[in-house]
Amino acid sequence: MANYLASIFGTEQDKVNCSFYYKIGACRHGDRCSRKHVKPSYSQTILMPNMYQNPGIENKGKMNAMQLQNHFDAFYEDVWCELCNFGELEELVVCDNHNDHLIGNVYARFKYEEDAQSACDNLTNRWYGGRPIYCELSPVTDFREACCRLNSGEGCVRGGYCNFIHRKDPSPEMDREIRLSTKKWLQERGRDPRSVSRSPSPEPTRRRY
Ligand SMILES: [Zn+2]
Ligand SMILES: [Zn+2]
Repeated sequence: MANYLASIFGTEQDKVNCSFYYKIGACRHGDRCSRKHVKPSYSQTILMPNMYQNPGIENKGKMNAMQLQNHFDAFYEDVWCELCNFGELEELVVCDNHNDHLIGNVYARFKYEEDAQSACDNLTNRWYGGRPIYCELSPVTDFREACCRLNSGEGCVRGGYCNFIHRKDPSPEMDREIRLSTKKWLQERGRDPRSVSRSPSPEPTRRRY
């Protein structure tokens, strides 16, 4: 029985725990959901709900596509660089959804849980763009599961009102640049002592004939 419960945890068969909260870190019923939203005590991922204020939604038509992309790129770079102060960042995901529980949500996955915790403790007392930041640990670990599969394929008919994450992408040039400079910064900082235990096995010696 325990095994069965563990195997269905957070899936649609689970009548106790909410599969949306478990997979996506947010569900449209919020606190009134009939299923449980189990907040993790440890996680590599943090969530800052409704943090990105998209001018394309707020003041529709005032900016053209390029201005909107630049606005988003500046935000993405800002958040990325700020989060790097807490540790090695693996992924930053900003929602392009329009529904209340996903609009402007920012998810960040760190390499180490303790870095996610310190980012969370620190950011929750800060402000961004004149609004207070609220930050929580999120159960999301696999963004492939959390993101809508149709959003980057033939397109999702639900558009901004989809209950899965529609990811907002930074421009490829900016993304490349930011990843390169982060890699360089990590190299300069030297090896993280926590990664020592994960050192790769010695190189296999080539067989000689
Ligand atoms: Zn729920
Ligand atoms: Zn979708």
